[in-house]
Amino acid sequence: MLKTLRIVCAVALFTAFNLFFLGFADFPGALARVQLVPALIALNVGALVLWGVVTAIFGRLYCACVCPLGVLQDAALWVRRRFAKASFSARPARWCLRGAFLAAGAVLFLIGGASLVGFLDPYATYGRFAASVLEPAATWLANMAGDAMAAQGNDCMLRQEMALRGACALAFSIAAGLAVIVCAMWKGRLVCNTVCPVGAVLGACAMRPVVQVRIDADSCVKCGMCERACRAGCVDAKEGKVDQSRCVRCFDCISACRKGAIRWTARRAAK
Ligand code: SF4
Ligand code: SF4
Ligand code: SF4
Repeated sequence: MLKTLRIVCAVALFTAFNLFFLGFADFPGALARVQLVPALIALNVGALVLWGVVTAIFGRLYCACVCPLGVLQDAALWVRRRFAKASFSARPARWCLRGAFLAAGAVLFLIGGASLVGFLDPYATYGRFAASVLEPAATWLANMAGDAMAAQGNDCMLRQEMALRGACALAFSIAAGLAVIVCAMWKGRLVCNTVCPVGAVLGACAMRPVVQVRIDADSCVKCGMCERACRAGCVDAKEGKVDQSRCVRCFDCISACRKGAIRWTARRAAK
């Protein structure tokens, strides 16, 4: 149930963002303004406090549903799972690496503002990829449909110019997007818990959230199914522990457990 709800929210927001990037809808512009790096650049204190509080209470729901780059990684993993089994194992927290990328993001922001920090901003990375791939693809499809209708004597659709960007910018945007996709197919949400500076900040806020994904030691039979399902590599089934700072609230572990031993539950209620 939790997993289904999370997928529905993620798909709805991802669709809205893509319509926004393609210029079909204006309303997701408000959602774009509450993305963390755009909110930081615009000094949108309300959005920053909101995500800090939500993360401290519920964990990284932002990474579960709101970040389009996170949903792109989940889509890549979903495609892989259609063709081959994906089995993960517990990974180290790598705080040094996460801290280094966070520091790099802060330096880029201080010396270059929005233009430089965009190289590490997940929202900008997805936006560039979408603009480089989705926009030309949508224009091409629209022109194909227009040509087909014109062949039938219906000229109601005007041909549109392909909005292709400079070769370097195009190559960089596509390469970054493809690197994220390949990494997600191979290692799940590895990018989220190593490279992404937003993930490092949210991870720090989510060290001890009020509502946690927890293993009940009394019901757990240590089968390891939850650990193998975890795309963030943050479940250690042998130790019966979940690293809350890396958990991206996908709830795959809860679906994988046949004993009902892993739950999303309030910290105080947990044994
Ligand atoms: S860690 Fe970064 S890239 Fe991953 S979902 Fe969260 S904000 Fe997006
Ligand atoms: S899947 Fe359930 S029973 Fe198996 S290790 Fe995880 S929590 Fe324990
Ligand atoms: S611990 Fe569970 S909810 Fe968290 S990332 Fe891993 S599989 Fe998803």
